[in-house]
Amino acid sequence: MKVYDAVVIGGGPAGVTAALYLARAGVSLAWIEKLAPGGQVLSTEVIDNYPGFPKGIKGYELADLFEAHLDGYEMDRYHDEVFEVQAEPGEHRIKVGEEWITARSLAVCTGARWRKLGIEGEERFAGKGVSYCALCDGNFFRGQDVACIGGGNTALEESLYLAKMVNKIYLVHRRDCFRGDRVYQDKVMSHPKIELVLHAVPQSFIGGDEGLTGLVVQDVRTGKVKTLPVAGAFIFIGQDPEARFLPSILNRDASGFLLTDMSMQTNIPGIFAAGDICSKACRQVATAVGDGATAAHSIRLYLEKLNA
Ligand SMILES: Cc1cc2nc3c(=O)[nH]c(=O)nc-3n(C[C@H](O)[C@H](O)[C@H](O)COP(=O)(O)OP(=O)(O)OC[C@H]3O[C@@H](n4cnc5c(N)ncnc54)[C@H](O)[C@@H]3O)c2cc1C
Repeated sequence: MKVYDAVVIGGGPAGVTAALYLARAGVSLAWIEKLAPGGQVLSTEVIDNYPGFPKGIKGYELADLFEAHLDGYEMDRYHDEVFEVQAEPGEHRIKVGEEWITARSLAVCTGARWRKLGIEGEERFAGKGVSYCALCDGNFFRGQDVACIGGGNTALEESLYLAKMVNKIYLVHRRDCFRGDRVYQDKVMSHPKIELVLHAVPQSFIGGDEGLTGLVVQDVRTGKVKTLPVAGAFIFIGQDPEARFLPSILNRDASGFLLTDMSMQTNIPGIFAAGDICSKACRQVATAVGDGATAAHSIRLYLEKLNA
């Protein structure tokens, strides 16, 4: 069985960066991606906040550039899914498709998924009004009316962030009180641009070829339905890490995201993590790229120590 110095799992911004840095350092490397290089970038209409692209760049174009950047480097590429990792320091075992490979170190860069409401129109208007990320898309709705959906800290914090640029926010929550911190609740409740729509559950998104025009909500007490006239709707009901295939001995936060130290190492020697799968405050292309570079650098130092 082939033993690699390093295996990178995931071909999003974090995994591509880690693979690029490790290949340039000359370590024997396998890179595994179950779909196509790019990760979540591929489902992004336009990325407006990644340095170097002042006019923004289409998600699929950035993904193509990521892949092209890797093309010139030496590594084994696996286009398959990782189903299991067995952590054995110095010799981690990874099941890719039906095959087992072994690695002295591992960079886990498998990302996260935003939770969806699963209601009518959500897929259709994704990227055309429906968003899950205020940092990514808030700027597109400058001066317009939007809805925010959720009741936790993310919903409250992101509503306050969006309130700096949009005209009005309907904050939709199914209960009459929020789960988020008191300090954010007080700010949201007294904000002149934020109208609370409580006891309300989203029913559907409506609009046309031009994009979203409204969010239909139902009052859970009366059953009455109304349409909020909005050009944008931000869904803040949480994210889930892509971590099912990892061993349970890896330390995670309460939501299942991997805990790492500053070198991006997990609690298991030789297993590093980078990007959205990590427990962190800001999940963006730029931060994933930064994590990937740090993880690769740390892996190189780890391998040097192992060889010493
Ligand atoms: C619609 C949308 C819009 C966004 N807009 C912006 C924006 O404007 N600006 C910005 O900075 N960020 C934006 N983001 C967030 C940004 O895309 C993510 O923060 C970033 O892609 C995270 O990179 P990552 O490499 O950690 O993970 P991901 O991009 O999630 O990549 C993980 C990769 O791992 C692969 N993978 C997962 N599990 C396995 C497995 N078991 N075996 C093999 N491969 C596996 C996946 O197929 C995927 O390719 C947006 C995200 C979405 C969904």
